[in-house]
Amino acid sequence: MIEENFDAIVVGAGMSGNAAAYTMASHGLKVLQLERGEYPGSKNVQGAIMYANMLEKIIPDFRDDAPLERHLVEQRLWVMDDTSHTGIHYRSDDFNEAKPNRYTIIRAQFDKWFSRKVREAGATVLCETTVTELIRDAKDRVVGVRTDRAGGAIYADVVVLAEGVCGLLGTRAGLRQMPKPQTVALAVKEMHFLPEEVIEQRFGVKGDEGCVIEAVGTTSRSMAGLGFLYTNKESISLGIGCLVSDFAGMVESPYVLLDALKSHPSIRPLIAGSEVKEYSAHLIPEGGYKAIPQLFGDGWVVVGDAAQLNNAIHREGSNLAMTSGRIAAEAIIEVNSRNAPMTKRNLALYKAMLDKSFVVKDLKKYKDMPALLHTNSCNYFTTYPRLMSQAAQNFMRVDGTPKIEKEKATTAAFIKARSRWGLVSDAVRLALAWR
Ligand SMILES: Cc1cc2nc3c(=O)[nH]c(=O)nc-3n(C[C@H](O)[C@H](O)[C@H](O)COP(=O)(O)OP(=O)(O)OC[C@H]3O[C@@H](n4cnc5c(N)ncnc54)[C@H](O)[C@@H]3O)c2cc1C
Repeated sequence: MIEENFDAIVVGAGMSGNAAAYTMASHGLKVLQLERGEYPGSKNVQGAIMYANMLEKIIPDFRDDAPLERHLVEQRLWVMDDTSHTGIHYRSDDFNEAKPNRYTIIRAQFDKWFSRKVREAGATVLCETTVTELIRDAKDRVVGVRTDRAGGAIYADVVVLAEGVCGLLGTRAGLRQMPKPQTVALAVKEMHFLPEEVIEQRFGVKGDEGCVIEAVGTTSRSMAGLGFLYTNKESISLGIGCLVSDFAGMVESPYVLLDALKSHPSIRPLIAGSEVKEYSAHLIPEGGYKAIPQLFGDGWVVVGDAAQLNNAIHREGSNLAMTSGRIAAEAIIEVNSRNAPMTKRNLALYKAMLDKSFVVKDLKKYKDMPALLHTNSCNYFTTYPRLMSQAAQNFMRVDGTPKIEKEKATTAAFIKARSRWGLVSDAVRLALAWR
């Protein structure tokens, strides 16, 4: 094992760890990055939509060689009952711009590419190395790490904890608590392989254009959950996730929900004839602003999913991870440039910078959303999807019933299901959460 002192040790080679390691190494800091997986990305799961703006701020010319699947030109939002979907589709040729804004990626390939950039920037990257413990000095400052490799301790001025959602290292060290079941979702995902031309024909896209579908409704069995379908070049990523606390109270397993999504009449034709080559499951932090733990201390900072920086409402995580990794690195670079120690007081700069970014501003805006959806999940995920389907069908079937009677029937169905007061209170709660 390495017997050296580093300016920084980064634990984890996911989105946040790579952003932090790349930014520090490319500014001349001596960086060691440790990753428990066989290679960067081998342990990581994402849908996966990658947001270009946040990567551009780290590697401006990433489009030259990053493994990108499709750039997104169409987004479909579906509310489903058992046999139908009601949808909003947005598609624009403006998304066929020279530098597209959103891409689908496959993390195993993307993280390998990102890690190559980290090495090229000058960092030392060691895979198959699990950090088992943080080392503290007599004043309780974090001064290094121990790993599962022979050779003992490695020392650094600062340790960047980029270890993902479970954050076992940080929780074992008492820096934060384990995420609670009501603040994390469990998502399962399959990769369905199909020829490129079949994907293009089924989704009405050409070349590198891509389409995504996000769906809520009865497939999540009244739990607060989201199904997703993302088009890659020669595969479709299909998955669904719900809060762990909801799964705990249900007899259904995540696999049953995924099977229900796959066999839904609106999804089945889109994946027909595909070959499933990959299956994965992972947690997603969904606690919002209130779940963010202490972000810095003497000799350490925490970034990405480990810091619960994930916007569940907008299904954004990798961009918050990359941004928090970059900002933590910039704060460390600033402290290092002043030859100042990596104390809690000096590393508070990271939090001050993060507070000014979209990461914290967005999470603050939706701080109560998961609680809202969770409390009323049966209504939002079962009752309303069914009512919307009934209303749409009632409207579209031309059967000689006068329109006035159809309108009355639809209104009566909503009131019967939720009562006038229930409807008003659901609408007000939603509006307040979104304001
Ligand atoms: C099903 C699913 C779909 C998603 N879809 C999207 C999406 O479409 N768009 C989006 O932006 N976000 C999405 N996300 C969220 C996104 O994947 C995460 O926000 C992002 O991966 C967080 O990056 P990270 O670097 O913080 O953590 P990770 O990517 O989880 O990386 C953590 C790394 O640390 C390593 N590690 C952990 N412990 C140790 C240790 N002790 N020693 C050494 N290494 C360690 C792990 O092996 C891993 O490589 C999705 C998540 C899931 C689960």
